[in-house]
Amino acid sequence: MRTLFRSLFVAAALAIHPAHAADAPYDLVLRNARIVDGTGAPWYRADLAVRGDTIAAIAPTISSPAKRVVDVNDAVVAPGFIDLHTHAARGIFHVPTADNYVRQGVTTLLEGPDGGSPVPLKPFLDKLEATPRSINIGSFLGQGSVRQRVVGLANRTATPEEIVRMQGIVEQGMRDGAFGLSTGLFYVPGTFTPLSEVIELQKVVSPYRGVHTSHMRNEAARVLESVRETIAIGVEGGVPTQISHHKLVGKMNWGKSVETLKLVDEARARGVDATIDVYPYTASSTSIHAALIPSWALEGGSRETLKRLQDPASRAKIKSAIAGLLRNERGAGDPRNVVIALCNWDPTLAGRNLAELAQARGMEPTPENAAEVVAWLTEQGGCRAVFHSMAEDDLQRIIVHPAAMIASDGEVPLFGEGAPHPRSYGTFARVLAVYVRERRLLTLEEAVRKMSAFPAARIGLTDRGVLRPGMKADIAVFDPARVRDAATFEKPHQYAEGFSHVLVNGQIVYENGAMTAARPGRVLYGPGKTRY
Ligand SMILES: [Zn+2]
Repeated sequence: MRTLFRSLFVAAALAIHPAHAADAPYDLVLRNARIVDGTGAPWYRADLAVRGDTIAAIAPTISSPAKRVVDVNDAVVAPGFIDLHTHAARGIFHVPTADNYVRQGVTTLLEGPDGGSPVPLKPFLDKLEATPRSINIGSFLGQGSVRQRVVGLANRTATPEEIVRMQGIVEQGMRDGAFGLSTGLFYVPGTFTPLSEVIELQKVVSPYRGVHTSHMRNEAARVLESVRETIAIGVEGGVPTQISHHKLVGKMNWGKSVETLKLVDEARARGVDATIDVYPYTASSTSIHAALIPSWALEGGSRETLKRLQDPASRAKIKSAIAGLLRNERGAGDPRNVVIALCNWDPTLAGRNLAELAQARGMEPTPENAAEVVAWLTEQGGCRAVFHSMAEDDLQRIIVHPAAMIASDGEVPLFGEGAPHPRSYGTFARVLAVYVRERRLLTLEEAVRKMSAFPAARIGLTDRGVLRPGMKADIAVFDPARVRDAATFEKPHQYAEGFSHVLVNGQIVYENGAMTAARPGRVLYGPGKTRY
């Protein structure tokens, strides 16, 4: 009976689409692949066929005609990587090919992390729609940005009326297609937000099936409290919750990943959907004032900060706080550990560290003198910097944790500008080269899962992240013996190596060393947009 139905169905299909006869042509066949399907399952050898923007078939041999056949010669064929934590707005409109990401197999970027995003979100998403790109992109809404809209940069609790207004903005953001509400409780103004207020906003996100991702309030001495807070936001707000770029900053805090991961394990054991993302480097990067100037001195915005720096008494207080942070947190005890990534007002400072800059100004390279340099840099207009302040042991412990996925925290650099953190160019290739091939801490399949099916499931992307017929054809092809990150802290502007082809929505965007002319990238929308 079932067979009869099927043959009737096939006959009907043939009658309606005579051109799609038994040997319907494929647009592309990747032949002789090692399929790493994204689920974590062991690789298997097969051909993969693409029709339109979709994976049409995966089979031991596909011999049907295709417009193009590429023999990948036993390379790994994996789902294109999905990066849930990026600052892609920095650069994507200048470099819509996002070469730094595509050349390491990334096919989808998420913006709006760390509590920061455009508010409202829709004009930003519309602008992305109007910008032909190589790569898919979606966005979170940022809690800090929402709060700035309503409460400004003041250090105070929001009134009940302000909370209602913020909830309205959040609801609109979810309907516009945000994937959730990110927090950056480390930054101004997120740091002025009490836990209860974050929870009230997440309660609005919950029915739209959004996700909370957090740059936590503290990644140093108070990291355990911050992990508990991130978990509480998930529990009380009714949302999946994620620790972003999990790290332990400052020598005094090295080793605490044992305890932070235990907190995550315990939360998961009692039914809390808490996860982690991480990048494979022991240095972080952010603006120098966010990392090193205490939040009380940032209240009210940069004009207020500059006024405080002009007042001798508060300048002394600020500098003493900076020196403390250089000793115990982002400086890890030595001003040489803080390296300028870019100062827009003086590009020649890129690559120089705080000790060198102190010496250039005729001072000994002590933390106190480096604090004076930080105050001066802030007065000149501020800089982004790279902070070498984490331990490899913590990084390894986090990266292998089953609830940890890979995300870059990177951006789309202008090639050659400044000395940005190499994570923008190397994150995914580095995991495959260093943590899979060299150190054997992860299997290839597990690493790919952390870059594809896992992040896809996290934000509810049901048609990407796994290689299976019917899924969108976002695909990365690489040689597992040759894949490597080439970007270093000293020479960051170097593309990853070992990738031969990258497909986005069925079209080849990168092939044998060059970006193609295809711009198939789509804007991806969260479940609130399609369901309501
Ligand atoms: Zn962050």
